[in-house]
Amino acid sequence: MPYFDYNATTPPSPAALAAEREISEQAWHNPSSPYRAAARAHALLEDARERLAALVGGAAKDYVFTSGATEANNAVLAHAASIAEAGARVVVSAVEHPSVLEAAQACFAGRVILLPSDARGVTQLEMLEDTLREGNVALVSLMAANNETGVLQPWREARAMARAHGVLFHCDAAQWLGKLLPDTLAAGDFLTGCAHKFGGTKGVGFLKVPASDRVFRGLRGGEQEHGRRAGTENLAGICAMVAALEIVSQRLAREQASWMRARERFEKALPAALPGGEILGSSTERLWNTVMFLAPRHENTRWVAALDKRGFQVSTGSACATGSDGPSHVLAAMGVKPEAARRAVRVSAGWDTTMAEWDGLLAALAEAQVALDGTA
Ligand code: PLP
Repeated sequence: MPYFDYNATTPPSPAALAAEREISEQAWHNPSSPYRAAARAHALLEDARERLAALVGGAAKDYVFTSGATEANNAVLAHAASIAEAGARVVVSAVEHPSVLEAAQACFAGRVILLPSDARGVTQLEMLEDTLREGNVALVSLMAANNETGVLQPWREARAMARAHGVLFHCDAAQWLGKLLPDTLAAGDFLTGCAHKFGGTKGVGFLKVPASDRVFRGLRGGEQEHGRRAGTENLAGICAMVAALEIVSQRLAREQASWMRARERFEKALPAALPGGEILGSSTERLWNTVMFLAPRHENTRWVAALDKRGFQVSTGSACATGSDGPSHVLAAMGVKPEAARRAVRVSAGWDTTMAEWDGLLAALAEAQVALDGTA
C-alpha cells in the first residue's frame, strides 16, 4: 500500500530492525548494572553516542538520549525557564510543533514571543531582532523544517542573531535530520532529533545539550546519561536509531537530487490531476519529500478517506492535530483562512517511494475527486 505519510512516521529500516533485534537478544542488560554483561551494554551505548555525534556533528558528550522529540523539546523549554532571570521571555516561531509551543506556554506563561510566518510558511525574523535588542530573552527556538508544509526555516540566521546577543538557541530538527544532511545544525546550543522520522523505531530520540552546561537535567531520579537524563536507556532503540541514520545519511548524498525530481514531477502534474488545487510554500525551499496542498473542494478528512480506499495513505497535516478541532495553527500563521485550511492535504514521501507510486497518487487524486464530487 503506497505510504505517503513519512512526516508522521517512517517504517523502521531493515538496518534499524536488525540492530534492535540484536541488542534486545544479546545486550539487553541494564547499562548501569555492575557486571561485565552490563559493561558491554554500556560500551554499546557510548559507541552509539560517538556514532551519532559523527553523523550529526559536535562531541559525543553533548548528546543526551531521550524518548523522542517531544521529551527533548519539553526538556529544553523547562531547562531554559529554570535558569532564566526573573521575567525573562522565550521567542519561538508560530509554526513550531505543539511540543515546543505548549511547553513554551507552560514554562514561560505570558512571556512567549511568537515570530510570525509569511504566506509561504517562512518565519519572519524582524521581531526577533527587536526582541533581542530589548533584552531579557532566555531562549530562541526555531525549527529546521516544518512538519506540515516541509518549508525550511531560517534557523541559521536566527541562530546568528541569538548568538550575537548572547542568547541560547534551540532547533527542533525532527523533520530535517535524515531528509537533508545536518549542515551546521549541531553548532547551536540545543538540537532535537527523533528516530522514527528517519527509519528508526518509536520512542527514541535525542537532545544535544552542551556538556559544559552542568545544570541540565532532562528527567530526575537517576544518574543515567552522565547525570543529565534519568531513566534506564532504551539501548536497542538507540542502536536502531543510529543504524537508521547511518543508512539514510549514506543515501542522502547520492540520491537526494533524484528524490527531489520525483516530487517536482508530481507537483508539475498536480494542476492537471486536480484543477484548482494550490500547493503551499511552492515558492520557497521545502523538504524534498513533502507536498501540502489545498484541494479545490471537499474537506481534507474526506480526501484522506477517499485516497485510503484507493490504497494511498496521506494526511491532513500533523498527526498530532488529527482529530483535534479547528484547522492547523501552521496554516493559520500563514494566513490561510479556516475554510481553506480544512481542505489541506499533506503528502510526504520516503527514501524508497517510486516514480510509479507518485504517478499512482496523481491518478488516485483525480479519481477521488470524481468520487467526492459525485457524493457532494
Ligand atoms: N517536532 C517535530 C517537528 C515533529 O514533526 C514531531 C512529530 O511529528 C515532533 C517534534 C514530536 O515527535 P515525537 O512525537 O516522536 O516525540
